[in-house]
Amino acid sequence: MPNNHHSGFIAILGRPNVGKSTLLNILLGQKIAPVSPRPQTTRKTQLGILTLDNAQLIFIDTPGVHQPRHKLGEKMNFEAQNALEDCDLILFMVDITSPPTPEDLQLADKIKATKTKTPVILVANKIDQIDRSTLPTALEDYQSLLPLAAVVAISATNGENLEQLLSLIISRLPEGPPFYPVEQITDLNERELAAELIREACLYILRDEVPHGISVRIDQYIEREGKGAYIEATIFVERQSHKGIVIGQGGLMLKQIGTRARQEIEMLTSRKIYLQLRVKVRNNWRNDEKMLRWLGY
Ligand code: GDP
Ligand code: MG
Repeated sequence: MPNNHHSGFIAILGRPNVGKSTLLNILLGQKIAPVSPRPQTTRKTQLGILTLDNAQLIFIDTPGVHQPRHKLGEKMNFEAQNALEDCDLILFMVDITSPPTPEDLQLADKIKATKTKTPVILVANKIDQIDRSTLPTALEDYQSLLPLAAVVAISATNGENLEQLLSLIISRLPEGPPFYPVEQITDLNERELAAELIREACLYILRDEVPHGISVRIDQYIEREGKGAYIEATIFVERQSHKGIVIGQGGLMLKQIGTRARQEIEMLTSRKIYLQLRVKVRNNWRNDEKMLRWLGY
């Protein structure tokens, strides 16, 4: 182990859609957190691990703060707060293309309210989308929320200033040996990753046609010696009408979802995948405690 090795847990906090999942994906070089053009697609706290020569960065991707409208929302807020108290470093991610919103203020207050005095890096994302002459002023508005935070302006989509962000992160992590074996990328097992990728494929293919109430359960995950894996999964929707939309005319929509999900899982696991999907209606599952526990929330 080299001298000056740093390691620790990093919480990425930010309101929905600022680019948390995109950043995590680009840093880890693999698809782990679901990214979609809509807010709140990240529901579980996820762990992504980046192992470098001189550091191990363990990322916790939090769902972000929002007003809970149902039980699922409450659990998401709880997870976000937990992550905040338990980590070694907080990345407070903001969207620099617009001024701070009440949600940003609320999040900054939560960070200031932590007893742990955890170091914070303000990550101003999406600089590819603004006129550079306005950057200093835009940054000031956010810096005033957390005057003690280090600041870096990046683009998670084109990779600008990511090296700078990485060295800033490493310099602020505690010194210590790695927590996980080098080859480990995530503590989510393949089943969970497959479920997330299927859910992401649904959101991607369906766009705004079906609202948030989609969940995925893996029913079978069978290894076929040397020939990949066979996966059977159920997509749960909230209404009968949603079921029709997910399946589509002559099953076309479901076929597209299946193709995309299969390709994503194959890319992640580097082997052939046979994917069988079905769709079921689960009434009001978001408010059903038993169902939530069963799905692992
Ligand atoms: P999250 O809700 O914070 O996890 O946000 P996502 O990572 O899902 O990103 C939300 C949207 O912002 C997606 O459409 C991304 O492609 C987009 N996005 C993320 N980072 C950048 C960036 O640096 N520049 C631009 N232009 N778009 C970005
Ligand atoms: Mg996300």
